[in-house]
Amino acid sequence: MIPEFLKNPPLGRPWLLYGLLGTSVVLNTMLVLRLDDEPATVTADTPAPEAMAAAAVMPVGEATELSNSAVPPELVPPLPEPKGVAAKAGTKVFSGAVSSSLSATFQGAEASSPAALSAVYARLFVWDVDLRRDLHKGDRVEVLFEDKEGAEPLVLAARLSLQPGTANERLVDAYRYQAAGDRFPSYWSSDGVELPRRLIDGPLGDYEQISSLLRDRPTHEGMDFKTPIGTEIVAPRAGKVTRVNWNHAANGNCVELRFNDGTLAKFLHLNEDAVKEGQAVVAGELLGKTGNTGRSTGPHLHYQLEKGSRVVDPVDYHGTLRRNLPADGMADFQATVKDLSAQLDARVASL
Ligand SMILES: [Zn+2]
Repeated sequence: MIPEFLKNPPLGRPWLLYGLLGTSVVLNTMLVLRLDDEPATVTADTPAPEAMAAAAVMPVGEATELSNSAVPPELVPPLPEPKGVAAKAGTKVFSGAVSSSLSATFQGAEASSPAALSAVYARLFVWDVDLRRDLHKGDRVEVLFEDKEGAEPLVLAARLSLQPGTANERLVDAYRYQAAGDRFPSYWSSDGVELPRRLIDGPLGDYEQISSLLRDRPTHEGMDFKTPIGTEIVAPRAGKVTRVNWNHAANGNCVELRFNDGTLAKFLHLNEDAVKEGQAVVAGELLGKTGNTGRSTGPHLHYQLEKGSRVVDPVDYHGTLRRNLPADGMADFQATVKDLSAQLDARVASL
């Protein structure tokens, strides 16, 4: 299930994961930067305009309430039309300097939902950059994307330049690329390291993306994996099936499994179950297939872990790993990077 080229470096600082990856609404209403010359901004009472815009393009997961925290809008002027640069049809570029927050920075983007673009961009780098602590005024944001009316924009390439022109300058980048043998494209840095981390022995062999981490929303107790209906779900550990299809209106078809170590695991919104209550399962055994049943905004798996009355973060329980492209796949990948970089550079230069 896990390709041989997987590498498994230590997790590092897991608290980095809890910052921002997740819904547009949370990202764009709760993201408040600590700037060098200002104290962190605290919440306001009315939803930010970008939060309302983002609600129309909620990423896959469960319905959620809008957060009420807001960032002060510090508008970036609208970008001029790119001129004299050949660009692939349908792609757009946004380039800007960080102002008071990432979402405020993206308000200048020529996109049907700047808030959704900001959220998708943030999700790319959340594993490597603490976007609450590490962003500074003047950091550079660049993104090449396809605008999607009523849906999340599709990012093709993105860069984040932290503290440019200083001794602490740091560049992180992301390129959309489908590795040989993979079912879905993912995002890779220019040196061939996959940006999104993966659970070790998680419930899905492959999926499109993690659309929500546990701590994105206080009311959301699981991890969401966006994946097409019918993706196989396997038991991450050996255990016993304790419940099937309870609270169907909210959970849809669902399976609850008690691992042999006592941890309770819930798998929600399934298309079909493959196990019965009381059944013993071994690690890797099929539990069912993913779906879009119950209270769900799109095909995905909600995976939740509990120990007693405590909800456990799957990132902590499983640990994560990060893939590297195999050496024999690098030439093809670098060609993609070159092409996307050229498009991004040309368009940014013309702005
Ligand atoms: Zn969920």
